[in-house]
Amino acid sequence: MAKSSFEYVKSYELDDTLLPNTWIVVRIDGKCFHKFAEHHNFTKPNDLRALNLMNYAAYQVMKDTHDICVAFGQSDEYSFIFNKNTAFYKRRGAKLLTTINSKFSSSYVFYWRKFFGDEILQYPPCFDGRIVLYPSAENVIDYLKWRQADVHINNLYNTAFWALVLQGNLSPGQAEKRLCGTVSADKNELLFKEFNINYNKEKEIFKRGTILLKLHVQLDVKKKTVASIIDIHEDMLKEKFWLKYENLLEP
Ligand code: ATP
Ligand code: ATP
Ligand code: MG
Ligand code: MG
Ligand code: MG
Ligand code: MG
Repeated sequence: MAKSSFEYVKSYELDDTLLPNTWIVVRIDGKCFHKFAEHHNFTKPNDLRALNLMNYAAYQVMKDTHDICVAFGQSDEYSFIFNKNTAFYKRRGAKLLTTINSKFSSSYVFYWRKFFGDEILQYPPCFDGRIVLYPSAENVIDYLKWRQADVHINNLYNTAFWALVLQGNLSPGQAEKRLCGTVSADKNELLFKEFNINYNKEKEIFKRGTILLKLHVQLDVKKKTVASIIDIHEDMLKEKFWLKYENLLEP
């Protein structure tokens, strides 16, 4: 087709190619999910249906996008880590981020009923997204540890907070005051002594979030392998995790 006189406008589009040879991390996060959780009667402090739906939406993303080596999810957020040398969308930032975010968001809605059954989705949820680039594997590992440490801090606090409110009959304000200035050991003790809750026995998915990773399984003697995506809830803050999954970031 001949070029039209309008076509010059295309030149206003800026190049957004992401730096080569770096790990691309895409993180998405639900918008106003403290409200969304209330509007959809999420169980406090952790709604398993919601976590499973997040995981399933992330699985849909990962299944479609072969260059994602690992993903990590907790609460209303998910991080996707691309292979260092990915050429996905020629590393064009906007294409990459919007495609991941949109696939995740539409999957969240599309599979809502599979996890929430009769709980009606009241309005279309919305997720924001960002891209961060990391130059070293060590940085990516620290990134994952940072997100997982966040789960632990929040979950311990929330577990104590909701025990005080739901079982201890404190008002949210009183519960907040009660927890003000306490360290982890205090919260563990409070849970155990006052509510007979052993925090160590809480579900792993609540304490550690979910790691989605690709396992390369050998199918037959001809050494044909297929990648299957599995979900685990292991402790990435422990060095033995990184020994066990030594090829996680450099498959
Ligand atoms: P923002 O738009 O800035 O992200 P937000 O309200 O989504 O605001 P976040 O810091 O992202 O704030 O926190 C998400 C909130 O969503 C949690 O604090 C919690 O109230 C709720 N939430 C998310 N997932 C769950 C879940 N599985 N079970 C219970 N509550 C959840
Ligand atoms: P890409 O992923 O690169 O965007 P694409 O297949 O979506 O690839 P586009 O250039 O965006 O390519 O073109 C969208 C195509 O979708 C159209 O060429 C047409 O085939 C189809 N399409 C979109 N909307 C309609 C419509 N309303 N009726 C019929 N076909 C449509
Ligand atoms: Mg946010
Ligand atoms: Mg949020
Ligand atoms: Mg969040
Ligand atoms: Mg198109």
